[in-house]
Amino acid sequence: MDTEGRRRSGNIEDRRGMRPVRTGVGLSIGGVLFLVVLSLLGINPLPFLGVATKAPEVTMEQSSQPYQESAQEAKLRELTEVVLADTEDAWNTLLPQYGVQYTEPTLVLFSGAVQSACGTAESAMGPFYCPLDQKVYIDMSFYNELSQRFGAPGDFAQAYVIAHEIGHHVQNLVGTAEKVRAAQQRMGQAQANELSVRMELQADCYAGVWANNAARTRQLLEAGDVEEGLRAASAIGDDRIQRETQGRVVPDAFTHGSSEQRTRWFRRGLESGKPEACDTFGAQQL
Ligand SMILES: [Zn+2]
Repeated sequence: MDTEGRRRSGNIEDRRGMRPVRTGVGLSIGGVLFLVVLSLLGINPLPFLGVATKAPEVTMEQSSQPYQESAQEAKLRELTEVVLADTEDAWNTLLPQYGVQYTEPTLVLFSGAVQSACGTAESAMGPFYCPLDQKVYIDMSFYNELSQRFGAPGDFAQAYVIAHEIGHHVQNLVGTAEKVRAAQQRMGQAQANELSVRMELQADCYAGVWANNAARTRQLLEAGDVEEGLRAASAIGDDRIQRETQGRVVPDAFTHGSSEQRTRWFRRGLESGKPEACDTFGAQQL
């Protein structure tokens, strides 16, 4: 990508080096006193342990010192800022054409683990979007994984990952996410999974719509970028991920779509540049 001198987004929240802190683990002071009293009375306190302990709760994040990033991490952060800014430019123009105002989401950089309004997440789960706080969460070590474990290196592969999460934000803004969640409550697991696949493929298609807009309007893409994006779309298909992690493919547990499907929908968005081309819910054939 041609990222030199581009606008960088200010909607980045840097929580690297911070850790979610679990509180309430073990005994409260009152609980300890209660158990001591029981022991003094000659009563075995063990059956009461469950009463005296509190369930673990995550309440805040703490950092001992400011995060020191390496030169490589600084480059990745800058790329992330540029790509996020470009998705803002694209969707700020595109969405109002459909009568929806685009509210720019925050992108949270984290390392190891992070607390979101959707719960605490570990890096191993990969990047995600939380509709409750409208934030995208990325541990940039995922980019290494993408390159080394899934064989999809390159800055555009990384951009694709961000654009896919932003696609989920768009789904949230236009109300698709809410509709899907409501429908999923009324159906069985296999059907709910199929709706999740359609959601994911639509986010891939929206990533393609962004790429189209970035290329046409701001000349962000360079030769080879589209191939990088397609490789990433195919690399992180559920069938590939499952094969990597479980050694076999289980179609009913798919929640992101196969490599082939992800590539197809990313391409559809990329070639059309139109969000309405991303109707994965109305499509007979994914
Ligand atoms: Zn997704």
